[in-house]
Amino acid sequence: MLLLDRRSFPRDKPCGDLIGVRALRAALRLGVSETDLREYPRIAGAIVTTEGGELDLAPRSGWGQRLLSGSDARVVPRVVFDDLLVRSAVRAGATFRQATVRDVGPWASGARVVSGQERHGALSVAARAVVVAGGYGCRVASDAAPDDRDESPARGIAMRGYFRDVACPADRIVFSLERWLLPGYGWVFPLPGGRANVGVGRLAPPHDEGGEETHLHELWQRFIEDPRSPTAQWCRDAVPDGRPRAWPLDLGPRRRPLTADGLLVAGEAAGLVGPLTGAGIAFALESGERAGWVIASALESGEATKDRLSPYGRETRRRAAPWLRAELLAQRFLADAERARRFFDVVRPLPPTGALGARLLLHLG
Ligand SMILES: Cc1cc2nc3c(=O)[nH]c(=O)nc-3n(C[C@H](O)[C@H](O)[C@H](O)COP(=O)(O)OP(=O)(O)OC[C@H]3O[C@@H](n4cnc5c(N)ncnc54)[C@H](O)[C@@H]3O)c2cc1C
Repeated sequence: MLLLDRRSFPRDKPCGDLIGVRALRAALRLGVSETDLREYPRIAGAIVTTEGGELDLAPRSGWGQRLLSGSDARVVPRVVFDDLLVRSAVRAGATFRQATVRDVGPWASGARVVSGQERHGALSVAARAVVVAGGYGCRVASDAAPDDRDESPARGIAMRGYFRDVACPADRIVFSLERWLLPGYGWVFPLPGGRANVGVGRLAPPHDEGGEETHLHELWQRFIEDPRSPTAQWCRDAVPDGRPRAWPLDLGPRRRPLTADGLLVAGEAAGLVGPLTGAGIAFALESGERAGWVIASALESGEATKDRLSPYGRETRRRAAPWLRAELLAQRFLADAERARRFFDVVRPLPPTGALGARLLLHLG
């Protein structure tokens, strides 16, 4: 088993670093241990801020606490989390090689040739099955399994920065749905030792009109500094820890093909990213894990033909589509600031809102 990545690990990836309940469960199944994560405490709830006020989503009763007791979500910087995943893969028998993949060749004699560039020369490897998981804008995926049905798939763009000395709640994740952030939101995700990951993300215009990143940077700055922004109170004495970074997202749901002979597309390369939250880590891990099982079973009975790999596509869609569609509906609903305000006014006083809302938010990724 060969694991190829153009970067060496540990490496950073612009992200909110929220490892939701589903993502954490998948990571533990894949060999990451509780001990590896002991520095990063469990998240106990969430706060949603809107112009109508703050909604504290945390269990307020014994029933609520029980409801949330199995919902282990954490904020773990990707520079740490992704390295743990690579190490788990290596412990499980994979060989890691730093290489940039440029092409996955046609299916011939039960294999595909993966070619590209390694640090000290050309890469050329014949593989009986290839999982393409190159993340946003993965050209290798679109070349190898062309997608001619989604003409203008939805994209997002997000920016995050790390800060020290942030006075935000240490056990709550914060989502901000201020009017000026729509269609999108801001977040403050706490890290140990008074650090936090602070970011904004939004839908990107269908055609790149340029200036997208500049606009995002302005929003991000306003989110941190504007006295009317809920984040300003927490960031008053905050010290930036490195430069902010922006990165686009390939949002779902998409209809793109997920399998071909000897090939599977997983994670964000398959558009498995929530269109409301931008959460994609759980989908990436779950789809990668499923790809492994389906390949193993296909190879047991012969070659990894498209027919034998097709359960991967069916199962991935069956599991991911309800989440992605629900997020799409919620994204459209909440994009209207007035409607969002009315919605939160209605749910705020309802007693089960705290625990149910927290459970839902922690399970989105
Ligand atoms: C600012 C921001 C905040 C986010 N916050 C969250 C969050 O809090 N929680 C959440 O669940 N999701 C979040 N997401 C989404 C999440 O980061 C992605 O959906 C997720 O990382 C997708 O995982 P992946 O493995 O498919 O792709 P990636 O994590 O992008 O990994 C792809 C890998 O492929 C490698 N690669 C790419 N091309 C090649 C090539 N040609 N050859 C070799 N290697 C290659 C890259 O180096 C990279 O290591 C956020 C995204 C952004 C941009």
